[in-house]
Amino acid sequence: MVHSPVFKQNGNVTADVVVIGSGAVGAMIAHQLASAGHSVVILEAGRRFKRSEFVERWRNMPFYNRVHNDFQGLYPQSDLAPAPLYFPPNNYVGLNGPNGSAYQQGYLRTVGGTTWHWAASCWRHLPVDFRMHSTYGVGRDWPISYEDIEPYYCRAEEEMGVSGPHDVALQSPSERSRPYPRDMIPFGYADKRVAEIVNPHGFNLVPIPQGRSIAPYEERPACCGNNNCQPICPIGAMYSGIQHVEKAEVAGAVTLDQAVVYKFDTDERNRITAAYWYDAERKSHKIEARAFVAACNGIETPRLMLLAANERNPNGLANSSDQVGRNMMDHSGVHATFLANEPLWFGRGPAQSSCIVGARSGDFRSKYSANKMILNNISRVGPATEQALALGLVGQELDDEIRRRAARGVDLSISLEPLPDPNNRLTLSATRKDPLGLACPDIHYDVGDYVREGVQAVKDQVAQIAALLGGTEVKVTTDFNANNHIMGGCIMGENNKDSVVDGWCRTHDHFNLWLPGGAAMCSASVVNTTLSMVALGLRAADSIQKAFQNGEI
Ligand SMILES: Cc1cc2nc3c(=O)[nH]c(=O)nc-3n(C[C@H](O)[C@H](O)[C@H](O)COP(=O)(O)OP(=O)(O)OC[C@H]3O[C@@H](n4cnc5c(N)ncnc54)[C@H](O)[C@@H]3O)c2cc1C
Ligand code: SF4
Repeated sequence: MVHSPVFKQNGNVTADVVVIGSGAVGAMIAHQLASAGHSVVILEAGRRFKRSEFVERWRNMPFYNRVHNDFQGLYPQSDLAPAPLYFPPNNYVGLNGPNGSAYQQGYLRTVGGTTWHWAASCWRHLPVDFRMHSTYGVGRDWPISYEDIEPYYCRAEEEMGVSGPHDVALQSPSERSRPYPRDMIPFGYADKRVAEIVNPHGFNLVPIPQGRSIAPYEERPACCGNNNCQPICPIGAMYSGIQHVEKAEVAGAVTLDQAVVYKFDTDERNRITAAYWYDAERKSHKIEARAFVAACNGIETPRLMLLAANERNPNGLANSSDQVGRNMMDHSGVHATFLANEPLWFGRGPAQSSCIVGARSGDFRSKYSANKMILNNISRVGPATEQALALGLVGQELDDEIRRRAARGVDLSISLEPLPDPNNRLTLSATRKDPLGLACPDIHYDVGDYVREGVQAVKDQVAQIAALLGGTEVKVTTDFNANNHIMGGCIMGENNKDSVVDGWCRTHDHFNLWLPGGAAMCSASVVNTTLSMVALGLRAADSIQKAFQNGEI
């Protein structure tokens, strides 16, 4: 039987489960628990819009913003719950430290979360990524193994309708108990041609597993390959958290948007008894529940735990270890660009298509970072136009140069692996507050020597690849860029001496509070992380289910 949340006249609510955050992680947990018959309320800080409204805003976006990847700007934010903006910057997240600018993350505060404008690459960590310390003597081991999470990877792939290679030789990793739900999206011309040229020289180019398909999947239409995934898939062929918000609602969950959670009550056993949120009129409301889940992403989850400090938990919720906000990670990366000596025509098909993964692992990891190189498949027409205009060309010459550069332009988006470092830390700003008067996040970031030393290997590999493709104008960026894979702020471990949550993302300090998603991750690997985050979310949902069944909550 499906239970429904009970709403009182003053706007307060009671439910079995409250899920804070409606991104892919939170929405999928809400869907699992509502489908199991629990009454579920999703509290989401951001506003709710239709896809068509985002598409319309994208159509009206200036050329400059498009070419410079203004993925945030077309998603209107709630007046009370800002997301980071960069055109112009709103300084919502304060960055400092040796590589503060490398941590300039994009994320949305909108019903459905950040996967509205992701690229839908759905990677698994390698088995060895869970044993970094015992294998390579660096970083941390997870308290769970690849085998523990593998069934959840399968479920996550199923829920997100992932297309990946059935051919084992093209899988990374190949340790799988089930095939991908859909076979890989076929290589485009550029993927085929680059593979043909570089693979015989020891490089390993594989298809990117992705949350889209060439045939319809459930309610989703087939991907028609017109390359608009970032910042919005106009037709909804690409997986997004909004799909699980809607599924959760069909299963009985209730979503409240513009609901900014800011504090919790705890009882004498340090159990969470209620969460409080501000509505769009700044009125505070209370929700009482038996299980609480904060799936607010890797920055907002630790921020919320710190904001929620109370008398019993003066350093913040779940923070007896003093690890909340520490070990912040992202795939700090660089870009390599060059012009190939033949037309390759990147930019046909989805935004990400294939990737060079040979340097994903190996004994060198005891000394320096692994890397992966995405053959960025975003159309090169924008950058080619800027470059051709900068040459002062006009008329036919301008057209010809745009065509030459768009056809031959190669952009390798390269990710490196930071190690968890407690000094890479999110704290609450002493000076900057959001419109609700809640402290904004500050983040200190240093990519670390492990990453810095990994860059030399990247440069050597880029030089080889560019030479094989007859590259000219070869450039590798010198500043690290962010990759929006926010990890580490509520790290997982065996106990509350050095970690925040256990292997089920359940906090050590509060037996009815779960913090699933990126914040819990112990190693970054080099691959995009949302599939891992969602797999952790599904594990957390199972753990909540068990806690209900065992009468623990
Ligand atoms: C441009 C871009 C491209 C990307 N491409 C990829 C990719 O190809 N592959 C990949 O694996 N990853 C990619 N990512 C990362 C991916 O989008 C995130 O890992 C993923 O969205 C995280 O999901 P989540 O549910 O944890 O958080 P989010 O999707 O960020 O959702 C968290 C939600 O919590 C809400 N919230 C926060 N605080 C509160 C509060 N106090 N009260 C109530 N609600 C709150 C927020 O409003 C938000 O809606 C990309 C990211 C960006 C920006
Ligand atoms: S290529 Fe087009 S249809 Fe396919 S996911 Fe991207 S935007 Fe959507």
